[in-house]
Amino acid sequence: MLAALLGLLLLAPPPDTSWKHAGLRTRMVERQIAARGITSPAVLQAMRSVPRHRFVPGVAPELAYADRPLPIGHDQTISQPYIVARMTALVDPDASDRVLEIGTGSGYQAAVLSTIVDSVYTLEIIPELAATATNRLRRLGYDNVVVRNADGFEGWPSRAPFDAIVVTAAPEEIPPPLLAQLADGGRMIVPVGPTGGTQELTLVTKDDGDIARRTLAPVRFVPFLRPED
Ligand code: SAH
Repeated sequence: MLAALLGLLLLAPPPDTSWKHAGLRTRMVERQIAARGITSPAVLQAMRSVPRHRFVPGVAPELAYADRPLPIGHDQTISQPYIVARMTALVDPDASDRVLEIGTGSGYQAAVLSTIVDSVYTLEIIPELAATATNRLRRLGYDNVVVRNADGFEGWPSRAPFDAIVVTAAPEEIPPPLLAQLADGGRMIVPVGPTGGTQELTLVTKDDGDIARRTLAPVRFVPFLRPED
């Protein structure tokens, strides 16, 4: 009898704490994102829906939703929620868009984008991070994201052109293949500048083949690595 009861208890699902995380996300969106001027309903909804704590295992939920970047191993970081929201809003994502991300990391930015657009192709240079993110995104049901372990410098020629490109590591110069793979009418957001120094968040647009760049704000991102690094 006791054994049967114990068996039942062990089989019981873990307590549902999703309401608590939803509350943390609502507060994150209000205080960190909407309060700083992000107005796109699609972006705010994406930030409310993606379970950021699942992308930083081992981190307390309150910290996962805090106004700061967090380590994800291998000397890499997941950006602060506001930066993820701002970069997403800046590429003005649309439901029919095909998007390229460079720097999968935890997979969080890719998941946020995937709730808005048609498909996300994301490249990660560190094999372990690519593998973990692939499994995590599959487990969480983000099935319109494709992760590949490769150097993002070359982009993803066989899937180009892309309506939007989001680069989450900072190159000193924008890799020419990424400019080439941006669709006409496309938008790219990329932090450009030296490692450890001040980088400029840069919005690149392409219209009738003409490339225009606008620098928006000083930022600090992890470096854009090359295979020989
Ligand atoms: N977008 C991520 C954060 C990434 S941090 C997230 O939401 O969690 C930047 C990532 O870029 C790191 O994982 C780093 O390994 C990766 N990276 C750096 N240089 C790269 C390159 N040349 N190609 C692909 N990924 C690269």
